[in-house]
Amino acid sequence: MRCDFCFRHCDISEGGWGWCNARTVRNGRLEDRAYGHLSSVAVDPVEKKPLYLFLPGTKTLSVAMEGCCLDCAFCQNHDISRSHHDFLPFISPHDAVDYAVENGIPSISFTYSEPLVWQDYAAETATLAKESGLRTIMVTNGEFSEEALTRLLPLIDAYNIDVKGDEGFYRDICRGELSPVLDGIERIIAYGSHVEVTTLLIEGIHTEAMIGMLGRTLKDRGVEAWHLTRFFPAFRMIDRRATSERFLSMMLESADRSGIRYIFPGNSRQRRLLLCPICQKETSPVNGRCSECGSLIEGLSHPGTLS
Ligand code: SF4
Repeated sequence: MRCDFCFRHCDISEGGWGWCNARTVRNGRLEDRAYGHLSSVAVDPVEKKPLYLFLPGTKTLSVAMEGCCLDCAFCQNHDISRSHHDFLPFISPHDAVDYAVENGIPSISFTYSEPLVWQDYAAETATLAKESGLRTIMVTNGEFSEEALTRLLPLIDAYNIDVKGDEGFYRDICRGELSPVLDGIERIIAYGSHVEVTTLLIEGIHTEAMIGMLGRTLKDRGVEAWHLTRFFPAFRMIDRRATSERFLSMMLESADRSGIRYIFPGNSRQRRLLLCPICQKETSPVNGRCSECGSLIEGLSHPGTLS
């Protein structure tokens, strides 16, 4: 049987496993290894996703199951992305949504590992969340299949999508591809959902030329918010040193030249002012609203459309 959850489109035989080792075929049906058994549940500031322009100053209920469809040598979440543990707690989509509603949390985030590989749980939870008036967020490597995009577009309000490097970077370091990610970003922005992009900068691998190229490519695809974050040693890159603040500053300057409207440093002492997309004034949002004009900030496509 063919799994259509991500760009790999694995053919899986009865009792076999997909590339991600999280999807199998049992009794002629495609199934998740551990549907609803969550590796992580937390209440986070939405800025931690990172999303700075989608309900800023609010909390989000973060949920994750194990699994990923890439194999990044630098993975900062490798303990849940490529490993599988037994006896994780079961939390149904209903339970997750009820918890958010009862605690006044305005959104649910599918995050930490790779939600594309546990897409059935994410889609069911997102459907219930939207019926309950919650917003939905997906933090993803963006290796969408066409089918996944068609399924998710009506269900997810805001995305943070990794754009990790150029084609060679994806091939050599992540065992992935850049083009499905860029095509997905373009389609999501055209649909009208909110997108922020993140690039984890590894000093000695990323270069000014690569960031310049990515900046131009993202700008052409309609991206308006880009987070450049510092790498810390992890997984198979445990021996590499952390990215310096100086290198981050150089890359931020390069990213600024792309013309992308919002460029943010991450994992850093450096801060940049947030300008309200509606009144354009410097803002410190509270409960999703601009501290200056009071407008609800809910993404860049349709800012302030909900009250
Ligand atoms: S989620 Fe992706 S990697 Fe996993 S089985 Fe499906 S197509 Fe393969």
